[in-house]
Amino acid sequence: MGGTFDPIHHGHLVAASEAQAWFDLDEVVFVPTGQPWQKAAREVTSAEHRYLMTVIATASNPRFQVSRVDVDRDGPTYTIDTLRELSASLPDADLYFITGADALTEIFTWRDAADLFDLAHFVGCTRPGYEMNAASLEGIPADRVTILEIPALAISSTDCRQRTSAGQPVWYLVPDGVVQYISKHHLYGTQE
Ligand code: ATP
Ligand code: MG
Repeated sequence: MGGTFDPIHHGHLVAASEAQAWFDLDEVVFVPTGQPWQKAAREVTSAEHRYLMTVIATASNPRFQVSRVDVDRDGPTYTIDTLRELSASLPDADLYFITGADALTEIFTWRDAADLFDLAHFVGCTRPGYEMNAASLEGIPADRVTILEIPALAISSTDCRQRTSAGQPVWYLVPDGVVQYISKHHLYGTQE
């Protein structure tokens, strides 16, 4: 599951857990982006902070892992590079790439989009506020994509950042350890 995870929240964790259970996956690897190229317009928190929040949020689940492949690769993060690197290091694995509806409908804007489906099966998780319809999936080989209905959690990292900078709580939107990490490192303009 790729993401900026700025910060990781319960929407990400529920989507990962549902995909793990549905496909009986051995593990879900969370891959925080290095420099997300779609988000060049805004200041993204340092990769190290986002990586550590992802580790904290996933630590208690034995099936959840976090990979540094994108954090450690220089330059903007492209999913095609992520998948090539993961499939080289796990040659026997069947890879599933877990995304939300918003990300999946943009997939054809991603670099080397046509090659993505050779490397992984794509899982599009429903997300409140985003529609996924036949038109948005057009062009994706039908046997390489599954739409997965997720219990709706209208949580976004953008909202978590805005709430924090406005002094509003993010308790229960993100894991407790992430609330504490945000406060300890004064992320998102935390008010003291
Ligand atoms: P931002 O608001 O900064 O874009 P975000 O909440 O969308 O943050 P990302 O790190 O951009 O989080 O998302 C990583 C992946 O998780 C994407 O594929 C996204 O679609 C999916 N995702 C994020 N939130 C949810 C949610 N509440 N339900 C289902 N999928 C989600
Ligand atoms: Mg997003």
